[in-house]
Amino acid sequence: MKLTFWGAAQTVTGSMHEIAYEGRRYLLDCGQYQGRREESKERNSQLPFPAPSIAAVMLSHAHIDHSGNLPTLVKNGYNGPIYTTPASADLCVPMLTDSAHLQEMDAIFVNKRRSRKRLIDPAADGDQVEPLYTTEDAEKTFPLFRQVPMHTPTEVGPGLTYSTVDAGHMLGSTSIVLEARNGGKPLRIGFSGDIGRPGLPIIRDPEPMPAVDYLIMESTYGDRLHQDLGSVKDKFADIVSRTAARGGKIIVPSFAVGRTQQIVLVLHQLTKEGRIPSIPVFVDSPLAVNVTEVFRKHKELFDDETAQFLTDGEDPFGFSRLRYIRDVNESKALNDLRGPFMVISASGMCEAGRILHHLRNNIENPRNTVLITGFQAENTLGRKIVNKQREVPIFGEPMRLRAEVAKLNELSGHADQHELLNWMKPLAGKGLKRVFLVHGEPQQQKALARAIQETYGLEVTIPARGDSFVLD
Ligand SMILES: [Zn+2]
Repeated sequence: MKLTFWGAAQTVTGSMHEIAYEGRRYLLDCGQYQGRREESKERNSQLPFPAPSIAAVMLSHAHIDHSGNLPTLVKNGYNGPIYTTPASADLCVPMLTDSAHLQEMDAIFVNKRRSRKRLIDPAADGDQVEPLYTTEDAEKTFPLFRQVPMHTPTEVGPGLTYSTVDAGHMLGSTSIVLEARNGGKPLRIGFSGDIGRPGLPIIRDPEPMPAVDYLIMESTYGDRLHQDLGSVKDKFADIVSRTAARGGKIIVPSFAVGRTQQIVLVLHQLTKEGRIPSIPVFVDSPLAVNVTEVFRKHKELFDDETAQFLTDGEDPFGFSRLRYIRDVNESKALNDLRGPFMVISASGMCEAGRILHHLRNNIENPRNTVLITGFQAENTLGRKIVNKQREVPIFGEPMRLRAEVAKLNELSGHADQHELLNWMKPLAGKGLKRVFLVHGEPQQQKALARAIQETYGLEVTIPARGDSFVLD
């Protein structure tokens, strides 16, 4: 068996690994690489193998950096099965549709700009660009999903079995075990996917993986230790109460998938417990609305706390003061509404989407609060806000940041260093030969590699893109 790393190698996005076994090629994930525009375009559109040469794809979870290049694979001629959980398959429908729409909009934007440039300078590059993939490509992808519930071993090729455990990272997220049975002793490869944290709202805790010979493991927060989850509700209640007391609005930039649903659930709990004033809450994001429908459908994956809402005959993602907004006019109407109220909107790093309008209308008023709930990458507007820059650019215009800026970092969907070491502990003593670290920046990866070597004495490799290894 040969393992080749094609993405999320010494970086966090574009997860894609190839397994070659008995003359067939299989993919673990087919994620979108997210970086600088030109580099991303090149990486995502140029597959390092002919798409029809892949026999089957196994998808760990629905996040775009794991699933977001599946339509490119299909556009290039792939029409084999994509094995994943029912929840991941359902989540991929709104997520890949949204992603395709973004690609189409992006191509229109670039083409307009190029046409304008050519009017001024006929020698300028006027070639029209194509979207990475279209809505049609995404729609051709959906029928290829083969829904396999967790813990259900399934043959994906001659002598190769796929099975999963709950990775506790997002709804439907899995860690994958591949077992090769042809020839002598069975060979097992584990792929962690993204590993969550114990105690996250809605979903269950990460499950241990059965014994494997080789492990491909994520390392996003390989050198970090998170804060305790226990304080999330207290902090959240304080932020809502003090902003409401001054008649302000709470603007929450949030990832539409996962984070928004967690925030809604915690708000619901705080409301039930009478710990926050009863102010209107709006979820203003069509993608978040669609994704919340998928969450409602997959009750079988809820943790005990969330399942309790159902036992009590309640909708965990709905309460009387909460409204979901799809319509753009309704979204605009929020501009004229007086506080206090809360609006949760995407994108999570404030780079695009409706959140920009809400920030523009509210960021200069010291009565308001901007509540940051997730990681903010370098050079994003969200990072500038979280760093409390006095002036931030919104739609190209400088605006004074006078609203309060508050943070809730504890909801991170990724395990920290201790949690990663704990997660792999059951594997360490059971014949694990080697660990490959993926899905992390080099600094995080080196720190985690050292910690694994010191704690368990295992051989750890940090593969680069294109590196291959023979496993036996
Ligand atoms: Zn993820």
